[in-house]
Amino acid sequence: MYSGSKIVAVAKNYAKHAIEMGGNGMKRERPSFFIKPSSTVIHVGSPIVKPTRCEELHHEVELGVVISQRCSGVSASAWRNYVGGYVLGLDMTARDLQAQAKKEGLPWTLGKCWDTFSPLSATIPVELIPEPNALELWLKVDGVERQRGSTSDMLAKIPELIAEITAVMTLEKGDVILTGTPEGVGPVEVGQMITCGITGVTEMSFLVVKQQNHK
Ligand code: MG
Repeated sequence: MYSGSKIVAVAKNYAKHAIEMGGNGMKRERPSFFIKPSSTVIHVGSPIVKPTRCEELHHEVELGVVISQRCSGVSASAWRNYVGGYVLGLDMTARDLQAQAKKEGLPWTLGKCWDTFSPLSATIPVELIPEPNALELWLKVDGVERQRGSTSDMLAKIPELIAEITAVMTLEKGDVILTGTPEGVGPVEVGQMITCGITGVTEMSFLVVKQQNHK
């Protein structure tokens, strides 16, 4: 179970996804990342709640890195000392609210930070994933494939991500870095089931439900 203080999510870390979002797909000099609060985390058995205010809820399947100990200023070469495992994660996104925020030059909070927007698997021990740079991620909605990609296509790899993030902020034990999504993001509706996996390692499913007591 997740026990961290925050989720650090990397933006546009796969060229084809960056292009589908209107970017150029070039590797940035430094990766861009944002925070999702721990209140966004759910595990298998809990549904994803689509906010009433959101017209376009998108799935993004991602590999997550679980931090093993408090750290800051980590050098890329020392990255393995701070990885306590991995998770399969979904970076759920209210795409319309995110687009509105981008247009107005406002923070992404309403696009990314609603309760239930970070479904995570149980922690996968590092022994089961000796090489995180060659994993196949996939995602289906009601059995129809939407995403399939390899972590080998990440623009900034895990060592660089840990170095860049810890140059800015201290990571706590249990914090998760969501490393970005491959292409194929798209909408899910209330009543649909998202199933995603890391080929040969794990898979998980989450139902999307309507928000009650909406604001
Ligand atoms: Mg994402």
